[in-house]
Amino acid sequence: MIEAVPGVKMLEKTWGSNVYFLDGEKPSMVDAGFPLDRKRIIRALGYDGPACIIATHYHLDHVGSIHALKSHFGSTVAAHAADAPVMEGTEPYERYKLGALRTVYYRMFAPFYPYEHVGVDVVLEDGDVLDVFGGLEVIHLPGHTDGSIALYQRDQGILFSGDTIRNEGGVLEGPPPQFSTGVDTAFNSIRDRLLGLEFEVILPGHGEPVTRNANARLKEMLRGRKRL
Ligand SMILES: [Zn+2]
Ligand SMILES: [Zn+2]
Repeated sequence: MIEAVPGVKMLEKTWGSNVYFLDGEKPSMVDAGFPLDRKRIIRALGYDGPACIIATHYHLDHVGSIHALKSHFGSTVAAHAADAPVMEGTEPYERYKLGALRTVYYRMFAPFYPYEHVGVDVVLEDGDVLDVFGGLEVIHLPGHTDGSIALYQRDQGILFSGDTIRNEGGVLEGPPPQFSTGVDTAFNSIRDRLLGLEFEVILPGHGEPVTRNANARLKEMLRGRKRL
């Protein structure tokens, strides 16, 4: 585990997404990696499990461990209203179009990476403020999935972006088009909802944390992709 920024630890080299552990009276987690990551997460946390696990969206690489962690630690699970039904299994997982090759790939590997449905205890809407980490604001950013969210710690200027903003190889990027319900919608969400906020730090779903000038870098990225 490394300290991404004061008060936030990050589990590196997971099979799935970045996994963030947030300090506080009620320790919390943002995203939980693939099913294969659960043992490492439990080992890293010892007895001090999170009171609350927040999913930025329903994709397997972000929620794969949540069922196991919830059973182990008794944590509550929070996700946006549009993604919660997929996590709970009342709506199908693949609502976006996969290419033929990827479909074959998923069918082959699905038995090894089962999507374990999990009850969502706290159904989130845009504007909700979670009582963890000094107050985490929910910002609904549809486009990667219908219920993708960012979590914003206003006082500290920290944004947890899920897959709506990635930073793989140190390059800021929007969501991966092949896994998104609508990339244009996602970029509009970023432009309309995030650029006006003050933040220095982006803690993305994939890639390294951006610890300085994050808002300016985001603006630069949008300009570079002619989205501004
Ligand atoms: Zn992801
Ligand atoms: Zn995703």
